[in-house]
Amino acid sequence: MTEKTLDQIPVTQLKGVGTQLAGKLAKLGINTIQDILFHLPLRYMDRTRITPIGSAQLNTDVVIEGEVRGCDLVYGRRRSLMCRLQDNTGIITLRFFHFSNAQRENLKTGSHLRCFGEVKHGSSGREIYHPEYQFLDQNQPLPLQQHLTAVYPASEGLSQQRMRTIAGQAITLINENSITELLPEAFHKTSLTEALLFIHQPPQSASLDLLANGDHPAQQRLAFEELLAHHLSLLHLRRTFQQQPAPALNKNDALEQQFCSALPFQLTLAQQRVSHEIQHDMAKPFPMLRLIQGDVGSGKTIVAALAALQCIANGKQAAIMAPTEILAEQHRNNFEIWFKPLGVRVAWLTGKVKGKARERQLQAISDGSAQIIVGTHALFQDEVAFNDLGLTIVDEQHRFGVHQRLALKEKGLTQDYVPHQLIMTATPIPRTLAMSAYADLDCSIIDELPPGRSPVNTVVIANQRRQEIIEHVRTACANGRQAYWVCTLIEESDALEAQAAEATADELHLLLPELNIGLIHGRLKPAEKAATMNAFKNGDIHLLVATTVIEVGVDVPNASLMVIENPERLGLAQLHQLRGRVGRGKEESHCVLLYSTPLSQQGTERLKIMRQTTDGFKIAEMDLKLRGPGEVLGTRQTGDMELRIADLLRDAHLLPDIKKSAEVMLAEYPLKADAIINRWLGGSERYGQV
Ligand code: ADP
Ligand code: MG
Repeated sequence: MTEKTLDQIPVTQLKGVGTQLAGKLAKLGINTIQDILFHLPLRYMDRTRITPIGSAQLNTDVVIEGEVRGCDLVYGRRRSLMCRLQDNTGIITLRFFHFSNAQRENLKTGSHLRCFGEVKHGSSGREIYHPEYQFLDQNQPLPLQQHLTAVYPASEGLSQQRMRTIAGQAITLINENSITELLPEAFHKTSLTEALLFIHQPPQSASLDLLANGDHPAQQRLAFEELLAHHLSLLHLRRTFQQQPAPALNKNDALEQQFCSALPFQLTLAQQRVSHEIQHDMAKPFPMLRLIQGDVGSGKTIVAALAALQCIANGKQAAIMAPTEILAEQHRNNFEIWFKPLGVRVAWLTGKVKGKARERQLQAISDGSAQIIVGTHALFQDEVAFNDLGLTIVDEQHRFGVHQRLALKEKGLTQDYVPHQLIMTATPIPRTLAMSAYADLDCSIIDELPPGRSPVNTVVIANQRRQEIIEHVRTACANGRQAYWVCTLIEESDALEAQAAEATADELHLLLPELNIGLIHGRLKPAEKAATMNAFKNGDIHLLVATTVIEVGVDVPNASLMVIENPERLGLAQLHQLRGRVGRGKEESHCVLLYSTPLSQQGTERLKIMRQTTDGFKIAEMDLKLRGPGEVLGTRQTGDMELRIADLLRDAHLLPDIKKSAEVMLAEYPLKADAIINRWLGGSERYGQV
């Protein structure tokens, strides 16, 4: 036989796999024998032992053997066939809702059966619905399974039995052919072959608990390889991107001096450090890929502005993109205040800029008269043609997916170089996760708040004490302060959320007639939103009733009280964002988490964390523990990292090693690195894009 590796043998080589079945397998991305082996079980069942009927426990899977004592058709709410099976320890009912006449006739009294299924509580006591069963022949003993039985991810028209037979055949082929080991020996203790054999057919002695948790060394071996594949692919993405030329943008000390001396504050040390890192990156002739993490209020905007300054000082355009209109508007205001004195022209583009105004902005962007362009994702649109884009800044990146980010990268591609990239996020990500999810980015952390801030005092109060809280709002506003009242909903529906906020605003109008109350939600026209925000900023509105649209970035230092209704409905990161709207001035600020009773155990736990800390990184760690990485990472996690066996949280301890191993792979085994990416992520469209 010619030496073929298993990734070269098509599934049709297996017995019983014709074109039809091959088609079904192909839908699961299974084309070769190797693909079958990487189609990993979800869980396992133990069919290696026979359980005496008398001791078959409710809600467990069991193998039982016994004699048929009789079969009856019963006509309850649904017609069913009830078959009594007995051994010398007890009796149990097998119940079938779907059955053929032949089946019914075959289940003769006195025949012996072996059954497999889950024991449930039914009208006759313990029952097994639709058990798998085989007839026993006294002269020909039926062997029991020698290993634990795998349960594979389900798919239409492909039974577990079929998958097991196919996997079983694939496994016997491992011994005749080789499956390519791609990890250097030093990286692992278990070989790939050993790991796969174990995972598809764990020995009888294997612990179901260990397997269910994914902690077995064989599983960890594969999890390591899978996470390594993801890590390598991000590094690969990064390298590919950085092989393109970018304009080397030099620092302009005089201009920077002029810019900074006009600011009403001095940069914090953390801001200076991060700015230097950015300046250093941008001076290189290949594109910067840098992520700034900084807690809410740490002052990321000014750092972005300094990057933009360095860019325009070299005659190139800088684009800054925000996830919401409100935030884009705010950046535009800040940038205009900071840049107008230097004679820099700031353009403005969101979905809501229409007609003549839009044409003017588009014109200024394409003819280069606009030097800084502020906007929302409208900046991605085809009609937007930059004249000479040197830098893109994406604010609050967790709201944008990687694809969107790539789309903005491509905006620069009509030029003969690509722009530098700066990404800013206020949702701190636990270090280990960041290492894996952002392996394609360099990371800077602004780990210091501007001076003079007093931490927000957070209290957790039941809605029964609403009246008291309303009095607090009254007092705070009477003392010249301003307040937010945030309404939340479970459903992510703009319309319903708007309704809830309107109702609350009406209620508060009645109770606080002396106050000027504003209302802001996602359903308002941009001009209305902007007018309300401005009135709040100017102090004309005392109390702003809002939906979570104000979550991101909004900056009104005189607001020192925030009430959040039903905070138990929100994630910790989102609450942290919201709360970051207060505590921006010198006065002491308060945040009231006004929850509805009864509060679940987890809800109580989460609100307690909010009360105890204002450190975004700590909150992120806790959020990760409570909600898992999918939620914490948002879009980046969902389309981009569909893991088959690894679990970012459970396997986080592997990440430091993976990081090191990835460097070694790229340096010493580049071909194997490619093969690993291919093996685990081969079909993924994202990598087709690069
Ligand atoms: P975030 O990191 O949440 O985006 P911002 O950039 O909106 O924070 O900054 C929050 C507020 O802090 C703004 O009012 C900004 O002008 C102010 N600020 C930024 N840096 C400093 C500093 N070094 N000293 C004092 N205030 C600062
Ligand atoms: Mg911000």
